Amino acid sequence: MDVAANLEMINHNINEACARSNRKSEELTIIGVTKYVTIERTIEAIEAGIENIGENRNEGFLEKYNQIGTRAKWHFIGSLQSRKVKDIIDKVDVLHSLDRLSLAKEINKRAGKRVDCFIQVNVSGEQSKHGLAPEEVLLFIENLAAYEKVHIIGLMTMAPHIDDEEKIRSVFRQLSVLRDSIQSLNYDHAPCSFLSMGMSNDYEIAIEEGATHIRIGSNLVGN
Ligand SMILES: *Cc1c(COP(=O)(O)O)cnc(C)c1O
Repeated sequence: MDVAANLEMINHNINEACARSNRKSEELTIIGVTKYVTIERTIEAIEAGIENIGENRNEGFLEKYNQIGTRAKWHFIGSLQSRKVKDIIDKVDVLHSLDRLSLAKEINKRAGKRVDCFIQVNVSGEQSKHGLAPEEVLLFIENLAAYEKVHIIGLMTMAPHIDDEEKIRSVFRQLSVLRDSIQSLNYDHAPCSFLSMGMSNDYEIAIEEGATHIRIGSNLVGN
């Protein structure tokens, strides 16, 4: 299927999820995750109307960024090694995977501008997942005040790969509750108003639970 047809289907599903949860689709940013596909397919996505591109590895990020440049907004969604920060940080519009102070420190040292970041939270507690435990997030945010280039715009999570819809929903709901509690503190360096959650398998549930940024790969650019 071409990307435009996939996007039409996704937009339809988004509109239905918004209707069910009394939300507006304009509040949502769709990030087209292109980590599995070629530059050509990525450009097809942009031409279909995708304005935000997500990559999870430095190599793929740079390869695509270098050819496409500022025609898209660039989201780095994978775990980022501190020693690789200098290679990409000024090309990244939004980092979705801030998960440790050493990374914040390196960003602060290397970035030429303020960087919008999501803090990655491991809500489900799975060993295989990156991210802070929910109870660690508040102290982490307080400590980030020392790094003036690190600007926290929200929280990000990945739900477990399971069929149990209620368990997935509960993960998203916990992230939303945590976001509310941080947002209410009105930190200058951490307005924390956004929620990056929902992928191909679970974006409709994520929207119903308040997602503002959904990260869709296979359903958008896959076959
Ligand atoms: C790969 C990836 C996605 C997209 O996954 P799909 O299931 O293909 O939609 C979203 N978020 C992150 C962090 C990813 O690594």
